[in-house]
Amino acid sequence: MSEILHIYIRVSTSAQEDDGTSLDTQRQLGEQKAVALGMVPKIWNEGGESSRHDDFANRPQLSQLLAEVDAERVRQIWVFNTDRLSRNDTTWGLIRLKLLKHDVTLHTHTGIFQLSNPTDKLMLGILSEISSYDNALRAERSRLGKMNRIREGYWMGGPPPYGYKIEGKRLIPNPDETKWVNFIFKQYSKGATVQSIRRHLMEQGVKTRRGKSVWSLGSIEALLTNTHYAGHFVVRDKKTDTSIRCECPSIISALLAEETARVRAHRSKRRVKESNQKHFYLLRDFLVCDHCHSRFSGRTYQKQNRSVYYCPRKERNYVNAGTEKELKCTNSRYLKIAETDAMVWDTVVKVLSESVHFKEEFKKNTLGEKGSHVDRASEISKLQRQMKRTEDEIRDVGESLAKLETDRLIRRRTPDEIERIIMEIEQHRVSLKAKNEETAARIAAIHSRQKWTDWVTEFGSRITEMSEFAPKERHDLLNHVVEEIRVKTTSVRGHRLTIKFKVPYSGDSLRPVDPKNRSKGYEILPGKDTIEVPVINHAKKKRKS
Ligand SMILES: [Zn+2]
Repeated sequence: MSEILHIYIRVSTSAQEDDGTSLDTQRQLGEQKAVALGMVPKIWNEGGESSRHDDFANRPQLSQLLAEVDAERVRQIWVFNTDRLSRNDTTWGLIRLKLLKHDVTLHTHTGIFQLSNPTDKLMLGILSEISSYDNALRAERSRLGKMNRIREGYWMGGPPPYGYKIEGKRLIPNPDETKWVNFIFKQYSKGATVQSIRRHLMEQGVKTRRGKSVWSLGSIEALLTNTHYAGHFVVRDKKTDTSIRCECPSIISALLAEETARVRAHRSKRRVKESNQKHFYLLRDFLVCDHCHSRFSGRTYQKQNRSVYYCPRKERNYVNAGTEKELKCTNSRYLKIAETDAMVWDTVVKVLSESVHFKEEFKKNTLGEKGSHVDRASEISKLQRQMKRTEDEIRDVGESLAKLETDRLIRRRTPDEIERIIMEIEQHRVSLKAKNEETAARIAAIHSRQKWTDWVTEFGSRITEMSEFAPKERHDLLNHVVEEIRVKTTSVRGHRLTIKFKVPYSGDSLRPVDPKNRSKGYEILPGKDTIEVPVINHAKKKRKS
């Protein structure tokens, strides 16, 4: 496609109509030039309107042409002489810089006009520096302004998180949504799956922020990780690589947030495990090869209806073959799962039900001894009082900050002095807030310890029903009491398992503190923390055909 020669024609006085540079003459000359250059002419006819003011306002054609130049759509311009563009020095200077900047060739009747003299180049350089400096300054000012507004507790812009609305540019709870935020967190922390929460939301006709009735699993998951609901969020300033921690009204209690986070962590750990594990193996996580110290694996052969535990060293070995990590394991014998599980479970149940220590553990928790409900309740209320005091102090500090701002307004102190005081107070406020967060975390920790105690207590009451535990319950119990189980192969079919308990439960006993005076009470004589169990893999029975 041929290039376009933009021909700008204009007459400024009636006299010119006669001196051979009439509009028609200019047009003809321009078109001849286009032919000579092998270009397509395009006429910009400003006409003959005379004007005393030689500026852009009364030159619509020129303004349009220059706009095209700015848009990089013009490469070649022809004018009879540069007077056509402007007689005014300032205007002409601006046009020249514009053409130079966009690399436009300016043709005149007498030849190509040299746009760039050294002064123009210098000027262009300065102008472009000024303009980029100006842009940077504007961007920085708006960034700083935004950061300050965020620091002052204003919302950063964009839609607020579900559960909030924006009023006076700040986040405030949206009652229509907060109840559902609480619902989601409570259900989740109680063990409901995200799927069932979603089902419930849809059944209740709860609309998403975008007014949809269908909640995505992802949006519920995301909501569960949102820190806003517990009263804060963090904004990252990419420029300075700093984070600003902002307060916002909390929608859920700190405890609920803590509990949800705990449940989430637990579930994601379990999810990883389950994804690698199609079948449930009661002991797989506990069994350790006594020969090479590898963790055991489990495998199920569906067709043969057979499942086994085995040392995976042999199968993993090809990965490390020839490297230092290559380890030979002589333990290539399998443990049959059904028999092994039964042997281990029965042994653990027997040890625990006979253990004085184990029974004492939950007895203690229900009596008013150290670490009891009573202690914890009083510790919690002490911490809560402490939090309240700190909150009061944070409020006081906030008030003094406001007062200092007033001082600044009425210029009672020097700006530097006020700046310094404000900074110190701000720092103090931040440390107070940090302190309160710590306290809140401690309260939450006490609550979770309480839950463990509750578990032991509840379990204790079921000590007689252990043989009826469901597989998951068995696994849960083993997790609480068993450290690991070592597997040693002793013969072609025989193995010796060594169960290592977390506490020396095995064979402990009570003895009187003073055998001659039993009223002085009893003490626990510790048992062993291990017990050995022989396991024999019985030969497979031959089927009668
Ligand atoms: Zn091994």
